[in-house]
Amino acid sequence: MTRIPFNKPPITGRELEYLAKVFELREFSGNGTFTDWCQAWLKNRLGAADALLTQSCTASLEMSAVLANIGPGDEVIMPSFTFVSTANAIVLRHGVPVFVDIRPDTLNIDETKIEAAITAKTKAICAVHYAGICAEMDVINDIARRYGLTVIEDAAQALLSSYHGRQAGTLSDLACFSFHETKNVMSGEGGALIVNDPTLVERAFVIWEKGTNRRAFKLGTTDKYTWVDCGSSFLPSELTAAVLFAQLEQAERFNAERCAIWDRYHTGFSGLEAKELVRRPIVPTHCTHNGHLYYLLLKSETSRNRLIEQLRKNDIWAPFHYIPLHSAPAGQRYARSNGSLEVTDRVSGCLIRLPLYAGMSPEAADKVIDHVEAHLGS
Ligand SMILES: *Cc1c(COP(=O)(O)O)cnc(C)c1O
Repeated sequence: MTRIPFNKPPITGRELEYLAKVFELREFSGNGTFTDWCQAWLKNRLGAADALLTQSCTASLEMSAVLANIGPGDEVIMPSFTFVSTANAIVLRHGVPVFVDIRPDTLNIDETKIEAAITAKTKAICAVHYAGICAEMDVINDIARRYGLTVIEDAAQALLSSYHGRQAGTLSDLACFSFHETKNVMSGEGGALIVNDPTLVERAFVIWEKGTNRRAFKLGTTDKYTWVDCGSSFLPSELTAAVLFAQLEQAERFNAERCAIWDRYHTGFSGLEAKELVRRPIVPTHCTHNGHLYYLLLKSETSRNRLIEQLRKNDIWAPFHYIPLHSAPAGQRYARSNGSLEVTDRVSGCLIRLPLYAGMSPEAADKVIDHVEAHLGS
């Protein structure tokens, strides 16, 4: 029985060549040649004001919280159905994540629930593009404009996805990507902060380089290099950037390979959906996605857990997520919810993620489909 893993990080074959180049250049710390190339790739490919490589999407979210001036007691509206980093970035600034429910179709933040959650302390809205499918950013940006709020995209899963023809990561003031090994393009750990509001670019580079004006000094726009603001060491080393550059060059191919498997699953499960035994992902017509994730929603938590168990017995690894942040111990301590989170709770109990990676064989996908069908039964 061949094991079908949930994820298998893609390798292009050029990573080692580019790593050798780092050794040849003897340029190991951050902000060197490969960092420049990656940042230029992101900036040009997405059409952003600027792009900064970081050590993780988590780091990018933390930078965003600093750039949005989140301070003690400030509130940021976000979904509870997300990874912990979305909320942690705010909690680290002593701010308060305020959770609202998600849409039952895309599982993204329900934009119609945001306005009711706004208080005098609200500073920002953070939308997550779940499964690489964009949240309703036009509506979210309109609310933010009316209340003077910053908008942050947690675009960790959404590299090269689009919304009304615009790139994910360019739909707000600040956006955060992840290059963790579980994402479509990876450098082990890694991330990027995309700055779309041009007035935030200079400060973003200061925060990135430990609160110093090193960039202005390098560009010759100041004659002394000094500590000017708060900041940290958010930049990755050139070793990370070299691996990432090899991967970015193949980003389109990786996404296409993932989408082929995604489509195969989608067709394969149409029969089970017609019998109302599962619900498949829904992609709005104004969105294109990058094949990041294929999930199914089962009828109940019990049937979901049984399916996970059954697949595991056949050496197919299919996990669930997320434990909603509002029900986690730290979520109860540091955050609050606004309104019912009924969809979040239901989805979190019924969702299963299927194996999906670039280079996955159609036969492996068919095996997954066959086992799900056999178990849920005709
Ligand atoms: C993966 C992920 C993150 C964290 O990314 P890291 O690069 O591991 O820090 C944050 N938010 C979402 C929605 C993610 O999927």
